[in-house]
Amino acid sequence: MTGVGAGVIADETERADKIADNVVEHQLGYSESKLLEKIEYALQRLDAGTYGICDDCHKEINIERLKAKPSVSLCIHCQSRKEQQRR
Ligand SMILES: [Zn+2]
Repeated sequence: MTGVGAGVIADETERADKIADNVVEHQLGYSESKLLEKIEYALQRLDAGTYGICDDCHKEINIERLKAKPSVSLCIHCQSRKEQQRR
């Protein structure tokens, strides 16, 4: 029983762990509940296969941006548009 499935599951779990680690490292000072919410959301997206896809325009988020901030759910364009709207 060394199917491909088991390997994929292990890989996904590892990725999820890495994302969680990154989020913790990068978001120190963030309120804990907010942080958990973000991790949860990132993991949900990973499950659904939409991790790294912009929530707004549904294009792929720049990989460097994801590396710097694994919990982002918007691409740089949509994020800056949102921040401008907030003012
Ligand atoms: Zn976008």
